[in-house]
Amino acid sequence: MKPKAIRGMNDVLPEASGTWRFVETIVREVIESYGYQEIRVPILEQTELFRRSIGEVTDIVEKEMYTFLDRNEESVTMRPEATAGMVRAGISHGLFHNQRQKLWTAGPMFRYEKPQSGRYRQFHQIDVEAMGYAGPDVDAELIIMSARMWQELGLSRLVLELNSLGSLETRRKYRESLVNYFSAVKSKLDEDSIRRLEQNPLRILDSKNPDMQELIADAPIMLDYLDDESAQHFTELKVLLDAAGISYSVNPRLVRGLDYYNRTVFEWATDALGSQGAICAGGRYDGLVEKLGGRSTPAIGWAMGVERLVGLFEECGGKAPDAGPDVYIVAVGQAALVRGFEISENLREAIAGIRIELNLGGGSFKSQLKRADKSGAEFALVLGDDEVAENRAGLKPLRTDQDQASVALEHLAVELAGRLRRNEDSGLDHRSADQDPVSTAKKQTGYTRA
Ligand code: ATP
Ligand code: MG
Repeated sequence: MKPKAIRGMNDVLPEASGTWRFVETIVREVIESYGYQEIRVPILEQTELFRRSIGEVTDIVEKEMYTFLDRNEESVTMRPEATAGMVRAGISHGLFHNQRQKLWTAGPMFRYEKPQSGRYRQFHQIDVEAMGYAGPDVDAELIIMSARMWQELGLSRLVLELNSLGSLETRRKYRESLVNYFSAVKSKLDEDSIRRLEQNPLRILDSKNPDMQELIADAPIMLDYLDDESAQHFTELKVLLDAAGISYSVNPRLVRGLDYYNRTVFEWATDALGSQGAICAGGRYDGLVEKLGGRSTPAIGWAMGVERLVGLFEECGGKAPDAGPDVYIVAVGQAALVRGFEISENLREAIAGIRIELNLGGGSFKSQLKRADKSGAEFALVLGDDEVAENRAGLKPLRTDQDQASVALEHLAVELAGRLRRNEDSGLDHRSADQDPVSTAKKQTGYTRA
């Protein structure tokens, strides 16, 4: 039997993982530059956690969760989203007792959906949550933070939609008027909507059925039902976004698929990825911590789909820096191999962040040089019997037509560091400053052979 991957679950191959890591690193750096700290929570949680938080009458809980009984007959679920687990962790560890928390996490999520481009059964999210902040300042900052990420990643074609769901009371009143409206046209509703009419009428607005759109367009508008405080909150948020130069459109039909939201909800979407256009979405969930048994704690957060983010990054012409080694060590013969090990370890110690690939598995001089070239390395370091005897190495630039130089081993680290620096200045190398081999090498006392 030939093993197969599970439908909708993907491998991220080495040719793609560099781009993933590049994008994830930028996102993480932006998030942490706003004072958020990482939390890591389990992939498996009690099923009840998601039922209670996401809501019974939602696509996720009704038909998308990976739920099973563990060996102790307890119902567990592979997390379909991260907020519930983060709130559960915060309550478990007393993180919300008179404290405010700015947290982020990242990792795989699981939903049993119909797999298609941009929609998978295992997908990845980066998730940011601010607990203990009533807003609207934090609402604005979370949106500004996401806009900064687009800027740092060089993304375009993203638009922001904004809405306010008001308070519980707003939702109750609005719900009533929706039920009245849709009941009067019940014969025109599709099957899904009829079911939702009784259980969760707001979700009718979420319908993607084209035949429903006209009815939905004429439905009552949530914003007309906002309580004064929520209306004030929404106005202040818009003022802050205007001042920050963030453009948005208010979409009164944006209700979001999860039950726990109130007041601010938003979604960043693109037209560059076909129909799976939502990249980053979030909202306020002031009631959730209390609902799950914690102290009443206002909170807001967003989640971003990494597959879609990476897709948009590539669509916008983004490219991760080259991941090839700096140096490929060509070592022909046993004595040269021993010397190769020694040199590679010494160089790793002398030049922080340097990437060295030592030829493994032997081979002729010619075949090793071929591998060196294929590896993408900038330099081949050539070791044969002569070099070993003379304590020297041949330094052969692979990406320019400069000649091979013979370098004494005691000067090798300084020579190499200098050359890598020059390449970097000329744009051959794109590594970030914290991996800069030269500045680190300068701090070292120099290369000495053991
Ligand atoms: P959609 O309307 O596309 O189903 P959603 O409202 O279900 O999205 P959220 O629960 O808000 O999505 O998750 C936040 C983000 O996670 C989405 O904006 C999207 O980028 C990503 N995402 C959600 N579901 C998937 C999936 N099945 N595959 C890939 N990415 C996903
Ligand atoms: Mg969905």
